[in-house]
Amino acid sequence: LIQLYIPLNFLGVMYREIRQALTDIERMFGLLKTGREVEDRPDATELPAGALSVRFDRVDFHYDPKRQILHGVSFEVPAGKTIAIVGHSGSGKSTVARLLYRFYDVSGGAVYVGDLDTRAIKQDALRRAIGIVPQDTVLFNDTIRYNIEYGRPGASEEEILAAARAAQLHDFVAHLPDGYQTRVGERGLKLSGGEKQRVAIARALLKNPPILIFDEATSALDSKTEKAIQSQIEAAARGRTAIVIAHRLSTVMNADEILVLDGGRIVERGAHASLLSQNGPYAAMWALQQQEALETNT
Ligand code: ATP
Repeated sequence: LIQLYIPLNFLGVMYREIRQALTDIERMFGLLKTGREVEDRPDATELPAGALSVRFDRVDFHYDPKRQILHGVSFEVPAGKTIAIVGHSGSGKSTVARLLYRFYDVSGGAVYVGDLDTRAIKQDALRRAIGIVPQDTVLFNDTIRYNIEYGRPGASEEEILAAARAAQLHDFVAHLPDGYQTRVGERGLKLSGGEKQRVAIARALLKNPPILIFDEATSALDSKTEKAIQSQIEAAARGRTAIVIAHRLSTVMNADEILVLDGGRIVERGAHASLLSQNGPYAAMWALQQQEALETNT
């Protein structure tokens, strides 16, 4: 019987891994309707172990040849640094993340991960190296432990606790009567947006990828939750190469570089303070969000 159990258990783990990857990605990218667009080249390679940089080199992209979406986008995220992408709805922020994940191939230019053109990397290797914290995480009708373990089925108890601690989730869970055995999801305990995001971060950290993409939720949050999310993102990004797709500028003030996208072009870039002093589009967005925050919190 054990001979039958091992392969079946292995299949179960594989199935869960694939389901998990698909769930987060579909949520992030709204990809349910799109198929697999790219194929591995016969000579595609693995990625080196350890930290990885990300580089976009004059990337052009269109979904439909009649409408170009990205125009000559160039930036670099050195290994271990955090870059934020901000810009109005439809400016192309998620498209940048989709190209990094190689859901599509660029129409011009190239995307590099760890100095390798993503078209020369095995897709499985590329996707294993990238963790995603989607806007709105799907929680399964199961325990908190199960929901975290989904990041890497078979992870040990210590690894799960370490991920929960790093995601600043542990204290919250430890105070629940059933702890990590608490059931969540539609039929269990309802978690707040911030708590769900911490489960998503714990999941992504358990996967332990060198590259993390955060897709920040668009919905309005009170300033306390906003601060908590900012510190969660910073803690999770530490020691990794991170790209934060941000809707609230206050959550990315400390990014090493902020890119402002408009109509698929980078129109401004720099650290928060220098962008503010430029009095350009970033400073205008900042002023508007400060005003909105005042109105929400009064
Ligand atoms: P938001 O802040 O609203 O999430 P965004 O800045 O992430 O927006 P993208 O999702 O990258 O914007 O979209 C950029 C442009 O590409 C939009 O005009 C959008 O309509 C278009 N677009 C996105 N996905 C597709 C697709 N699968 N097919 C065709 N056009 C698309």
